[in-house]
Amino acid sequence: MLLISCKNCHKVYEKENYDEFVCTQCKHKVQKRVKNSLQVSLALTICAILLYIPAMLYPMMEITKLGIKTQSTILEGIISFLEYENYFIAFVIFTASVIIPLIKLLGLLLIFISLKIDIKLRNKNKNRIFKFIHLIGKWSMIDIYVVAILASVIQMGELFNIKGGLAATSFALVVILTMIAANRFDTRIIWDD
Ligand SMILES: [Zn+2]
Repeated sequence: MLLISCKNCHKVYEKENYDEFVCTQCKHKVQKRVKNSLQVSLALTICAILLYIPAMLYPMMEITKLGIKTQSTILEGIISFLEYENYFIAFVIFTASVIIPLIKLLGLLLIFISLKIDIKLRNKNKNRIFKFIHLIGKWSMIDIYVVAILASVIQMGELFNIKGGLAATSFALVVILTMIAANRFDTRIIWDD
């Protein structure tokens, strides 16, 4: 007898072999391993790393004030918050939009590469890194919220207008692709030989 748990709802089944079946509780297809899980997650992570570059270099916000348009990147935004002595906001934006996405991407890349080539990293630690990435995932959309809130609060037509720039789109894609890469990854692969 084998014990197999549903990856989606964690219901445990007793089965005689590893044949695919449908979870009776959540209708999720239960497989021994998710097909091409490592390849797909690695590809998504590389795409997200490439999109991180325009997210940092292009304008995050476009502010129109009395008809004059100014654009600022994430880093310029942080610097101007520092200049106005809004240290807390500067810290939150820096952590949420620069540090956290980077830690997540590098963490995932490290795990995936360690499964492709032999890097001395214990399986337990790989699992820990993965759990940590999942845990901080929720907080990485903060920056998009900040732009959205600012935009809705300060929207006063032609006088004062804020909208998301190219970096906002790239940034949202970075967050979404990282989320899919982490969610789709089958952690059981870590324990395979
Ligand atoms: Zn299930």
